Amino acid sequence: MIVARFTLENLDDADLTRHAIEVAHRVWWVGHVQKDDVFQCHVYLIEQGDQSVLVDPGSKLTFRHTLSKIEQVIPFSHIRYFICHHQDPDITGALPLIDQMVSRDDAVVVTHWRAQELLKHYALDLPFWLVDQNDWQLELDDRRLSFVFTPYAHFPGAFCSFDEHTRVLFSSDLFGGFTEKFSLVAADESYYESLRPFHEHYMPSRDILGFAVAQMQRHPVRMILPQHGSIIPEHLVDYMFAKLKELECGLYLMASESTDIHRLSRLNQTLKDITRTMMVTRDFGELATRLLEIARRMIPAELLEFYARTDDDEVLYFAPENRYRGRVGEVPARIAEILGLDHKSWLHSEHNGFKSMSLPRECGSEHCIVIPLFSPDAGQVQGVAVIRLLGADYADQDVAQVIDQMSVPLQIALKRESIYRSLDMERQHFFERAIRDPLTELFTRLYMQDAVGRLFALHDRNPEALVAVALIDIDHFKAVNDGYGHMQGDVVLKRIAASLKEAARETDIPVRLGGEEFAVFLAGNQARGVGSFAERLRRTVENLEFDAPLDGLVVSISVGTAMRVPGEEMNDFLGRADAALYRAKQAGRNRVCLAVD
Ligand code: GH3
Ligand code: MG
Ligand code: MG
Repeated sequence: MIVARFTLENLDDADLTRHAIEVAHRVWWVGHVQKDDVFQCHVYLIEQGDQSVLVDPGSKLTFRHTLSKIEQVIPFSHIRYFICHHQDPDITGALPLIDQMVSRDDAVVVTHWRAQELLKHYALDLPFWLVDQNDWQLELDDRRLSFVFTPYAHFPGAFCSFDEHTRVLFSSDLFGGFTEKFSLVAADESYYESLRPFHEHYMPSRDILGFAVAQMQRHPVRMILPQHGSIIPEHLVDYMFAKLKELECGLYLMASESTDIHRLSRLNQTLKDITRTMMVTRDFGELATRLLEIARRMIPAELLEFYARTDDDEVLYFAPENRYRGRVGEVPARIAEILGLDHKSWLHSEHNGFKSMSLPRECGSEHCIVIPLFSPDAGQVQGVAVIRLLGADYADQDVAQVIDQMSVPLQIALKRESIYRSLDMERQHFFERAIRDPLTELFTRLYMQDAVGRLFALHDRNPEALVAVALIDIDHFKAVNDGYGHMQGDVVLKRIAASLKEAARETDIPVRLGGEEFAVFLAGNQARGVGSFAERLRRTVENLEFDAPLDGLVVSISVGTAMRVPGEEMNDFLGRADAALYRAKQAGRNRVCLAVD
């Protein structure tokens, strides 16, 4: 019988190879610590007089020890219920032994029907008591056990047990951990690092795990007693629940050759980082830089370059040297060979398998890995990512696999970049169209509002920053159209517009206001000379010589000029210039008139 009562309070005094530990009120750890076993299997006893419960009894390997610990608490014959949360041998291997030992008639194996279907092959005399046929509850003397269904978390009929009296959760395989250095109780948050690799490959999907955790969280859990790993004390319960929910699952889906969990976990982390980077980074150059950093964790990567074929069949080169802006340049022959290949040809190509190859370069190492980037629609190599290596060769299937996995995000990144590029070019194009008159290439009214508005603001703050306008109208232009046709009329318009541009300085703003009317805005010192500017222009136009069929044509312009008064609105300012222009027309055309203030 029991010599000393060991609890979590005096755990340090206990010898886990010999002593049962009371981990909660009349809940005993009766597991066995196996040497060099990363799985450590735990068995728990719920002490209820002659209605006692043994949770996940264990295997033939451990049962002898479990039995001796049980008998420190109660006689084995007091156990009536043997809960098997699922059908794994480390839980149920001892059932045939138990079956022989049990002498009472009312003892049962408590499990789910799905596990029973397998456990019946032990051909036990012990009957089954099915949780799913008993309302998922077991009433005991001083407590009730609620069974929590956690299906598909590695087994379709898996469940856990929650003790409403002590609020401990017997979580079975969930919250289990790998323990390099075993401790019965998790010390701090770092237990997560044991828990993570245990679940990441074991649980098939995050949805399934999330469901199981949500079911558990419906109970006010105070402590978690898993079948493997360490007991999770109260202060870590919420933390571990939250962490388990965000865990990656289905790690083996990534395995190509090795199923080493730590390795897969690392690869998975890398992929996660790639995905995250893709989500948070929009700038292509920044993206490339970050992806390169991730690649550097696995291979001696020096820099990342891209070649991408555009819709116009040009090949753009993206590299740090052009800040990943993309420019047309020479394409190395080996890259040209790869561009355009379909999936099948790529598989047969000598470059497949991410073996390092050599690409000529002015300076630095020529070693590199080439990643083909397939277009999703056509299934052809649309671009190529080149990882320059620092020289060393590498040969690692798993790394090749990660590189392979990188190709999709890289492909998306490049596609995204080319869409941004064409959008940008389109935007630039639209902007140009909005501000430039297509016939004369002079600015439009739209641009005038904007640009001249700024000159006005400057003038309003500083009356010295003068603004002047020369309003120009071609004389008898209708006659040109009538005499030579509209096409030739356009030629004349362009010629006169060209004269305007020529006469204007860098800071002047020449505008086509519409039809055959123009304006040139002059600012600062130029403004003072608006009269002579207009006169010079008038003379230039008058002396223009045209080619056939316009040979011999003489055109002239009338100009009205005005100096802006501080605070004057655009309409008033142009109105005064227009009045001057009208006077010029009235006075016989081909002349310049100055507006009065
Ligand atoms: P004035 O200004 O000296 O009084 O005579 P006008 O004949 O130049 O004046 P009006 O305003 O009556 O005629 C302007 C003509 O310019 C009418 C229109 O057919 C022509 N026009 C306007 N825009 C264009 C254009 O883009 N191309 C061509 N070819 N003609 C145009
Ligand atoms: Mg006119
Ligand atoms: Mg006219």
